[in-house]
Amino acid sequence: MTFDYDLFVIGGGSGGVRAARLAAGLGVRTAIAEEYRFGGTCVIRGCVPKKLFVYASELGHAIDDARGFGWTVTGKSFDWKTLIANKDAEIERLSKLYSGGVRAAGGTVILDRAELLDAHTVRLVKERRTVTAERILIATGGHPFIPDIPGRELGITSNEAFHLDKLPERIVIVGGGYIAVEFAGIFHGLGVEVELLYRGGEILRGFDHDLRHTLTETMRAQGIAVTCNTEPAAIEKTGDRLTVMTTRGGHISCDTIMFATGRRPNTVGLGLQKLGVKCGWNGRIMVDDWYRSSIPSIYAVGDVTDRVNLTPVAIRDGVAFIEANYKNNPKPADLAFLPTAVFSQPEIGTVGYTEEQAREMFRGVDIYKSRFRPMKNTLSGRPERMLMKLVVDAESDKVLGAHILGPDAAEMAQLLAVSLRLGARKADFDATIALHPTAAEELVTMREKWQPLST
Ligand SMILES: Cc1cc2nc3c(=O)[nH]c(=O)nc-3n(C[C@H](O)[C@H](O)[C@H](O)COP(=O)(O)OP(=O)(O)OC[C@H]3O[C@@H](n4cnc5c(N)ncnc54)[C@H](O)[C@@H]3O)c2cc1C
Repeated sequence: MTFDYDLFVIGGGSGGVRAARLAAGLGVRTAIAEEYRFGGTCVIRGCVPKKLFVYASELGHAIDDARGFGWTVTGKSFDWKTLIANKDAEIERLSKLYSGGVRAAGGTVILDRAELLDAHTVRLVKERRTVTAERILIATGGHPFIPDIPGRELGITSNEAFHLDKLPERIVIVGGGYIAVEFAGIFHGLGVEVELLYRGGEILRGFDHDLRHTLTETMRAQGIAVTCNTEPAAIEKTGDRLTVMTTRGGHISCDTIMFATGRRPNTVGLGLQKLGVKCGWNGRIMVDDWYRSSIPSIYAVGDVTDRVNLTPVAIRDGVAFIEANYKNNPKPADLAFLPTAVFSQPEIGTVGYTEEQAREMFRGVDIYKSRFRPMKNTLSGRPERMLMKLVVDAESDKVLGAHILGPDAAEMAQLLAVSLRLGARKADFDATIALHPTAAEELVTMREKWQPLST
């Protein structure tokens, strides 16, 4: 049987574009369809615009901090429309690089929605035509989920937060995950009054408890209202104002409510059910180690498989899919010691086991912790302290986890991930000479095991 293409990729985000570009570069006859904008969530309405917003927000604090270093800053003001316009221009540039990269490698780029008709056929919705392929790779990502409460249509999600006509005056952000926490910091830094509502007991479930606790305290001290164990029950609109009724009987007035209450895989309407592609409870495509779904010619990578929903993982999936299927090198993506960050203010950088996980999995665990005021915060008068924590296997001396809250934490976590993957021991950290004066030197100068106060 002959096909129009060897590989048809649905979704022009991080995972799909990487797979399509690599395949085309190998001479595989490849096409990729994107229904919205090339670059996907990460470039268009995720990591990239978010980080640009974080920079904008932090610069406001930096102007205040400069005073302690002798600068006189007058006439500080912020223009939301300038930020949006400059961000959009940068995203347009990146989006073109994504589609251009596939084209340059020899792939066919299609701007259309694609749906599956059968195990080898795709329907292009706007173009009203079908194409066939030996293999189909689904890389359609995910979308924000809003809970089903009265007035939910009055809320926005991170998608809309990147395009608001004007900066809110008072925003309620619902959720306790990294997106909620990051946007709370962004809006607060831009001068917006922020209240974070989270149904759980403490924000950032799954992160080390010291990070969670210290960040919550810091956010509160900065003036962000962090309210846990509650969530919106209903939202009402009167004029320009919204009233959020909470499950604890509270009424909060605001002009914007943003839901960061999880994401769902983009599989609705793709034609998966009719084909018998096995999906999970939330629609995620179930795949094996080689990204193959229950239908042998259909594969999936990235957020649509809802495993670890991060850009570098989607990209690694795309690479591993190509290696396994076109280079005879089947090797599943190795996610051990995956570093992650939360671009909160101050930011979090973390890699490896949390203290809680390590205590469950290892017989003896030693903890090393340091809390200190970073040098930059002395003259600026900023009271925030930095937290560094190492989780060590008492038996082997291997460093199992490193957790940092403070400036440049994410940059440190990226490099720490290399050491932890190599099996670095606490003794290796101790033997490494400090780089002075830095905050990171604390990582190699912590000598005292942390003892809980009760022992
Ligand atoms: C606000 C926010 C901040 C984030 N920050 C970070 C971060 O700091 N670091 C990090 O690592 N990750 C971050 N992420 C997660 C990251 O963006 C995703 O993990 C990553 O983009 C997943 O890549 P993907 O290729 O699986 O899917 P996506 O990038 O979502 O791409 C899927 C593409 O498929 C298209 N599509 C969907 N259905 C069809 C169809 N039927 N036909 C054609 N096209 C279709 C979509 O339009 C989309 O462009 C963030 C996400 C959000 C929402």
